Amino acid sequence: MKTKGGEVMTIQEREDALGKFVEREIYVCQSALVEEALKKQIFSIDDLENKYRPFDGRLITPNVCVRCQGEFICLDSETGECESCFEDHQEPQDIYEWWLVSPWFSKRLLMEGEPILDNDYGIWWGRCTTGQATSMDYVIQKIYDDIMQ
Ligand SMILES: [Zn+2]
Repeated sequence: MKTKGGEVMTIQEREDALGKFVEREIYVCQSALVEEALKKQIFSIDDLENKYRPFDGRLITPNVCVRCQGEFICLDSETGECESCFEDHQEPQDIYEWWLVSPWFSKRLLMEGEPILDNDYGIWWGRCTTGQATSMDYVIQKIYDDIMQ
């Protein structure tokens, strides 16, 4: 790992920097609040972006769709489907937690296909994992590494 200045970072230094980054961009878990506001229709689920995970096109080989058996330039890396099979069979992402996040960070999460609820009251990330620190999430580490490059 390298810092912006190009020096090599130890694992501990990276963890500390990642922890600070997460503290700055991810404010607080408000799952109960958001669930209640959705239930009472104060918030609308129509404001949820990336309700469905977008097709990622990151699988290049093998390039045969697992459903239609057709050959394609790229497939979805998680399901192994071509774009049209993927769109025919997609299901809403499973959101376990709602986290209030910074506006800047919400845009990075959106680009990674994460669910974001953005309304007049705030911006929440619909986290599809639970039971571990947010800094351990693959998507959080990916965003961190992308901006540090
Ligand atoms: Zn297909």
